[in-house]
Amino acid sequence: MRSISEESNLNNKKILLRLDLNVPLKNGKIEDTTRIDKILPTLKFLINQNSRIIILSHVGRPKGKQTDDLTLKPICEDLSYKLNQNIKLVIENLSQINRDNLFENNKEKIVMLENIRFYSGEEKNDVEFAKHLSSLADIYVNDAFSCSHRAHASIYGISNFLPSYAGLQLDLEVKALKKITSEIKKPITCIIGGSKISTKINIIKNLIPKFDNIIIVGGMANNIIKYMGYNIGKSLQEENSDVIIKEIFSLSEKENCKIIYPEDIVVGKELNGIPQIKELNKITSDEMILDIGPKTIQIVQNIIDYSNTILWNGPAGYFENPNFANGSIKIAEKIIENNKLDKIYSVVGGGDTVSLLNTLNAIDNFNFVSTAGGAFLEYLEGKELPGIKALN
Ligand code: ADP
Ligand code: MG
Repeated sequence: MRSISEESNLNNKKILLRLDLNVPLKNGKIEDTTRIDKILPTLKFLINQNSRIIILSHVGRPKGKQTDDLTLKPICEDLSYKLNQNIKLVIENLSQINRDNLFENNKEKIVMLENIRFYSGEEKNDVEFAKHLSSLADIYVNDAFSCSHRAHASIYGISNFLPSYAGLQLDLEVKALKKITSEIKKPITCIIGGSKISTKINIIKNLIPKFDNIIIVGGMANNIIKYMGYNIGKSLQEENSDVIIKEIFSLSEKENCKIIYPEDIVVGKELNGIPQIKELNKITSDEMILDIGPKTIQIVQNIIDYSNTILWNGPAGYFENPNFANGSIKIAEKIIENNKLDKIYSVVGGGDTVSLLNTLNAIDNFNFVSTAGGAFLEYLEGKELPGIKALN
């Protein structure tokens, strides 16, 4: 993998820079800017090299259709303010854009293409789409580690048509993860939560041989609770997951990895509702599981206490409502406590998990923080990520 930092002649070169600016947006306002702040060094490096930068990113899941609420406009404005430099957001359809009309004049240094997932060719890794993108620039740089588990056009296909490099942050992230995966101190525990059940549930299976304990919380645990025969009411769930859950349990026995899931939970009737602690057999059909209960918190804390390494991805509940943030906060506090005592090595990944820790001002108490969720887990699985493969 070649890093762009090792390239000496970038003067006036047009660089397609894939970033992950997928920040949480609410009514057009950015709720957490971690992902923007993190890539400022890369942009400053390229600005100092007098490159001309074409920023590529997605936000949200527009599924190949243009939607007003998923524009990159607020992100472009924030970035422009932080760099103290004008950045033009290119809103015209990309089919109308070519190498000669993309930059208005020689003074223009940075442009940002509108949400790349507005185009169906992106997620399909369409060859013509990737080719057209590549025709806009001289060099491709991937600085979006958190998107590198996707074989999309702006991550994967494009590298077939341009000299391709790793960005500064991607390089750092891969080096740090390599270190973690090769120098692990046991017992090692993985905590998996959050809501992206379909992406994460298949990963768990492959993590089992590598871990002593896997703690499943958040929306991720709902299907397991259902599998155990309980009514989970209106809780977030995934269709047809019984087969994979069965596999998870049989494999865990074989590999001597303990699977831990909630023994009690906190329910609400609505996402913005009030909390009620319940036993698993007391959930009614109009309720949703939105956090882990006190017994479960105690169990998780005990496991953290006897672990030497902790990897965490995915909140334990719907933490956006403070009524359901307790489980995630208690997990964070326990990890922080042990980290301060130098008793554990802790790694955390995931956009939402990191924004939760930001609200607690706790980021500095983790040994390694990655804003990547899915890519982080797939890397731990030992998979070669398409975006990394494309740079090799
Ligand atoms: P990350 O970004 O850290 O990888 P995910 O994107 O998978 O994590 O999931 C984060 C989201 O999961 C948060 O919005 C959180 O509110 C939600 N979540 C966690 N537990 C639940 C639950 N029990 N029910 C509904 N949503 C949940
Ligand atoms: Mg997320």
